[in-house]
Amino acid sequence: MDPITALLDDLLAEVRPLTSGAPATYIPELATADPDRLAFAVVGPRGRVRDVGDTDHEFTIQSISKPFVLALALSERGRDAVLAKVGAEPSGEPFNAISLEKHTGRPANPMVNAGAIATTALVEGAGIDDRMTRIVETLSAFAGRSLWVDEDVYASESATGDRNRALAHLLRSHGVIEGSVDIAVETYFRQCSLLVTVRDLAVMASTLAFGGVNPVTGHRVVAETVARDVLSIMASCGMYDFSGEWLLRVGLPAKSGVSGGLLAVAPSQFGVAAFSPRLDAHGNSVRGIAAVETLSERFGMHLLEPH
Ligand code: GLU
Repeated sequence: MDPITALLDDLLAEVRPLTSGAPATYIPELATADPDRLAFAVVGPRGRVRDVGDTDHEFTIQSISKPFVLALALSERGRDAVLAKVGAEPSGEPFNAISLEKHTGRPANPMVNAGAIATTALVEGAGIDDRMTRIVETLSAFAGRSLWVDEDVYASESATGDRNRALAHLLRSHGVIEGSVDIAVETYFRQCSLLVTVRDLAVMASTLAFGGVNPVTGHRVVAETVARDVLSIMASCGMYDFSGEWLLRVGLPAKSGVSGGLLAVAPSQFGVAAFSPRLDAHGNSVRGIAAVETLSERFGMHLLEPH
């Protein structure tokens, strides 16, 4: 085992005893996750992937799709058009909060559900299939392999997605969503149901770390300015209503999702990802947070620290 993989293995052993929290249950299909699963991966500048634990286990990407669909919307529409529909301010509220900016009706940012549904509504395409084709192509380019939807999780999320549907109707009443609410919401549910491994997430993170170029495939996925914009929003809004404390403690742009995934980006250095389905009260993976925080501390990764 090479020294970096050995180090990741030690990190996994350190966080494995943490058994607080529980898998999400509000999407019934997510409640069936094995809470003991644990995986960790890192991708460096030359595209070398190092992964440990349940590295081949697939889970749905959930909220971690949000920064990548934001990248697509920014690429297609430009920053001003995106900011006209969704803000860039941390909300300090839970991910599914029903709250929009008073004077504009915009959602606070693209990392909460309201903002993510507004972002998905900006993706070009006539219907769900058209938009999903663009979304799947983009996220697959970030991951460096073809991704597909878990139809059972999609069906489960769509069957229980009343709150997100309510949010979308509210957005349409404010003119934030201009087209069909159903297309926006069902596309959003499908993007959240894309299957990934921890390795995919680390490659996706590394593509953001290296200015929009996937270091494994060598392909440019988005412009450098788009990658920078996405990372800026992840830094202030990526960890639900724990985003401020996360930046304070860990100092890396990151995004978590309710299935237990978490990715973080050390710009120009590496992308990292963790998977463990037990979530804390904010909806963040307990062991995922511990692993990335330990890595950041041990290697002095905090971005605001003098390097
Ligand atoms: N699909 C989930 C929802 O909209 C994503 C939430 C998350 O991962 O934060 O409820």
